[in-house]
Amino acid sequence: MTKGTHKVPVISVEDSLRTRLRWSQERVEQLEEENRQLRGRLPGPSVTQESRRGFMCATDFQFHLGNDVEPAMVYSDVETLKTQRPCVAECGIVEVEVSVVAWVQQSDYSSLIVKDPTHQG
Ligand SMILES: [Zn+2]
Repeated sequence: MTKGTHKVPVISVEDSLRTRLRWSQERVEQLEEENRQLRGRLPGPSVTQESRRGFMCATDFQFHLGNDVEPAMVYSDVETLKTQRPCVAECGIVEVEVSVVAWVQQSDYSSLIVKDPTHQG
C-alpha cells in the first residue's frame, strides 16, 4: 500500500443499477404482501380482479355516468337495453367494461339472516 494515496470509493453504474433493481424488487415484494393481506379481508375471492361487460345508452355514458344523481344503467344484452331504453335509437349504444377498483364498504348480510322458524326460543 502506497502511503498518502487517498482512495475514493468508486461506485460503478452497474453497481448502482443493481442496487436500484434490488430496491425495486423489495418494493414489489412488499406491495404483493400488502395485496395478499388486503385480499384476505375481502368478502369474496379476488372480487377486485373481476370485470363485467355490458351495454349502455351512449348519452348516459358520455354525459351522466358518474356525473349526476341520475343512475346510469348497464344492461347485460343489447335487446334488453333497446327494450328498456328506447332512446338508444337516437343516443346510440356503447359496450362498456366495469371493474371494481376498491371496496368502499364491506358487505354485511347479518341483518338478512332469517332465523330458523323450527327453532323455538
Ligand atoms: Zn339515451
